[in-house]
Amino acid sequence: MANLELRSLGNTGLKLSSVGFGASPLGNVFGPVSEDDAFASVRDAFRLGINFFDTSPYYGGTVSEKVLGKALKAMGVPRNEYIVSTKCGRYVDGFDFSADRVTRSIDESLDRLQLDFVDILQCHDIEFGSLDQIVNETIPALQKLKEAGKIRFIGITGLPLGVFTYVLDRVPPGTVDVILSYCHYSINDSTLEDLLPYLKSKGVGVISASPLSMGLLTERGPPEWHPASPELKAACQAAAAYCKENGKNISKLAMQYSLSNKDISSVLVGMNSVKQVEENVAAAKELAMFGKDEKAVSEIEEILKPVMNQTWPSGIQQS
Ligand code: NAD
Repeated sequence: MANLELRSLGNTGLKLSSVGFGASPLGNVFGPVSEDDAFASVRDAFRLGINFFDTSPYYGGTVSEKVLGKALKAMGVPRNEYIVSTKCGRYVDGFDFSADRVTRSIDESLDRLQLDFVDILQCHDIEFGSLDQIVNETIPALQKLKEAGKIRFIGITGLPLGVFTYVLDRVPPGTVDVILSYCHYSINDSTLEDLLPYLKSKGVGVISASPLSMGLLTERGPPEWHPASPELKAACQAAAAYCKENGKNISKLAMQYSLSNKDISSVLVGMNSVKQVEENVAAAKELAMFGKDEKAVSEIEEILKPVMNQTWPSGIQQS
């Protein structure tokens, strides 16, 4: 079978694997994960062509960064063969997007990751901060980190899509290299699609996270803390049950749905086992060879119609 596809990330020159490794599960966010399983998942992901690994100091209160760092080191492969992104500004004890905090944060992250630099540093969930502080203080601080060689590219992440346009309309072109959106390019919510032409016109790379809507589009269902409404949870579980009855796997269909838009450079999926890594890579390769299962996707869309594009509030402001 063909190799996992690589896609260009905006103007960065980076080529990301279409499936990216979301390391939040390594912080035990979706349930406990042993270090053995974490190491095996990372090793297997790299072996199968995944070159992009995303984490944050927030995931598991720094556990994800530490475990990912150890796992990458244990692989013993040259640093230029994998791409690492982490984040700043969101911590288990709250948000702090001040220049001082994010400047200290990268040193702490590099220490935990056992790396000299990260490829991408992203301001984490900016809707919880002042967007004007992000524009006027946080991003300029990140530019200094870029000049110092601690980070190669700058990104912003968030749930409400309006935060991206707010910031990108106010920073000099080329300042923000990447946006990471989540839960907005899944079968149940594809609202990111409308923003893609704007992002392309700005030369900004697009990472889309949570193709399984943080567990909604799995047979197992979402974790306890999932913020979706009971109605959305129930509809997704009905869709998962329908797929199972018809011999289909909702997670595979959901991965393929998200991967099918090539304006998205990498679809970041959270993984905590070799089985999940292998399934998700196989889903991408199958998509490349045979295309989407349009019939199954439209059947799921029909079940999800009453909750289509339903999201949940996030942050201290909606812009
Ligand atoms: P996701 O939609 O990727 O779902 C992850 C869940 O699905 C986990 O429970 C995982 O074990 C399970 N899963 C993975 N593959 C599966 C398969 N083949 N079959 C069944 N279950 C499977 O949600 P996520 O982990 O929240 O998002 C992916 C990554 O994106 C995160 O790990 C993180 O790196 C990033 N992310 C960033 C932000 C942000 O910056 N604000 C927000 C969300 C996600």
